[in-house]
Amino acid sequence: MAARPSFDRRVGAWLSGAGDALVSVFFPADCRLCKRLLIRASAVPICDQCLASFPALGGVLCGICGQPQATWSLGGHDSGPHPPEGVVCPQCQSRTYGFDRARSYALYKGTLVPAIMLLKFERMEPLGRWFADRLGEVARREAVANDIDVVVPVPLHRQRQKERGYNQADLIAKPLARKLGLPYRAVLLVRTKPRPDKHILSLEERWDSVRGAFATRSGSKVDNLRVLLIDDVMTTGATLDAAAKALRGAGAKSVIGLTVARAARHPAVGSGEF
Ligand SMILES: [Zn+2]
Ligand SMILES: [Zn+2]
Repeated sequence: MAARPSFDRRVGAWLSGAGDALVSVFFPADCRLCKRLLIRASAVPICDQCLASFPALGGVLCGICGQPQATWSLGGHDSGPHPPEGVVCPQCQSRTYGFDRARSYALYKGTLVPAIMLLKFERMEPLGRWFADRLGEVARREAVANDIDVVVPVPLHRQRQKERGYNQADLIAKPLARKLGLPYRAVLLVRTKPRPDKHILSLEERWDSVRGAFATRSGSKVDNLRVLLIDDVMTTGATLDAAAKALRGAGAKSVIGLTVARAARHPAVGSGEF
């Protein structure tokens, strides 16, 4: 890469830090993931190669949790026939969720991990809109949009939102609602129990920590609503489950979870995801 004047570099860094979509079109900047010079005018400060490298999900998925077939086929007998559509993975056969089904754009690995960090900690709104476009495609592919009345983000606890200044799920859910032409209800759901400070290692601890952590805001009308519930990452499904249970408990007719990323489920269930 040719050296550029340090002034440009400083200005570029300042602008990408400011997250200003318009000016980044006119000033050179580096891809925030691979540091290559961005040659295309876009509000998203990530190059085409990096965007194309996100491990998008496809193929046969569990009819309920949306986990790809490859990660839950038993015993590694990958020479066998693919399961038909509508098949339920072993985990979903032994557990019931608050949501009817959950789907994601991609696996939480590779370049998508630092990309999610940019959304989460740097409030990168153009990236939130880009992710919303991808979720719009997933919603179309899964034919969910016709069965939805409102779009709701998984909320942060009040204290966490105050510290961060925003909810990253909001940065995805709001443009997605606009794209799908559906009403957006940012404050329908509240997180009443903060996330524990300690790093949770065990799968069961994770489920315990979010049990009863959500409630619907008093006075909000939830009865008979069909909800599209949005989050950035689905790790075990425990958070989506708890949020969906609060909605169902308040009378929601159905809840479909949609996340940008999801952790690949390891065959050794119980060994603990992060
Ligand atoms: Zn890049
Ligand atoms: Zn499943």
